[in-house]
Amino acid sequence: MKSTLLAVFAHPDDESFGVGGTLAKYAANGTRVVLVCATRGEVGEISDASLATPESLAHVREDELRCAANTLGITDLLFLDYRDSGMDGTPENLNPHAFIQAPPHEVVEKLVRVIRELQPQVVITFDPGGGYGHPDHIAISRYTTQACSQASSSTDFPEAGPPWQPMRLFYNTIPASFFVEMRRKMQALKMDTSQLDGFNPQRNGFDDDQIKARIDVTQFVEAKWNALQCHQTQFGPDNLLRLLPEVDLRQMIAFEYFALASPIPENGSQEMDDLFSGMRL
Ligand SMILES: [Zn+2]
Repeated sequence: MKSTLLAVFAHPDDESFGVGGTLAKYAANGTRVVLVCATRGEVGEISDASLATPESLAHVREDELRCAANTLGITDLLFLDYRDSGMDGTPENLNPHAFIQAPPHEVVEKLVRVIRELQPQVVITFDPGGGYGHPDHIAISRYTTQACSQASSSTDFPEAGPPWQPMRLFYNTIPASFFVEMRRKMQALKMDTSQLDGFNPQRNGFDDDQIKARIDVTQFVEAKWNALQCHQTQFGPDNLLRLLPEVDLRQMIAFEYFALASPIPENGSQEMDDLFSGMRL
């Protein structure tokens, strides 16, 4: 049976920074890599006014995501067609089409349908805190977790296809040590670290011992960087990553980190270097 990796995120560009290397790595070894994106990032920033207007942003970001998907070797790209809910506490949260306003049952059913149809062995999404805490990130993590569990039930959503149980669900996350290391590198270079102040390692990162898979994507740093470049509206000249010297940047993005959400890992279990490790496919 062909192996399938399903990545479920909220906005165009969520896939590239956190897991772009991992997606590229599995795509390169012949795994079917499918990306589900809940929205088109309708209310994201526009780094350069010549690239998009608020009206055209959804269309532009869809194209940016297609560019990134091609660069990473993603086989299929699916949209859930919700609207970006914007940052927490903004009026966009209340738009009736906003992802966070969607009926939970409806979103979970859509995801159950995708899981049952594609039969992925491995599913990845944001950690429950949503990385830096965007409400859409938190929502997609919660719904994906729920869908992975309900997809295997023969009584839940019977009209959405025959049951399928993904073997592993991973949360993409950043270990707290990453932020510490980033700050150290920036201080050594006498760079302004104020951009990092919004990232609280305790809140935004996981304890290092919760990381259950560490994927070496050194060979795919180029693809990951090129995928990031596709997201021009989001990745302007002031982006933190562009300020780091290339050698440091390459080091920082050469590993991607995952906590194991399901099955719940045993205490002291070994860290994996492959999301599919030990699976007989
Ligand atoms: Zn996002």
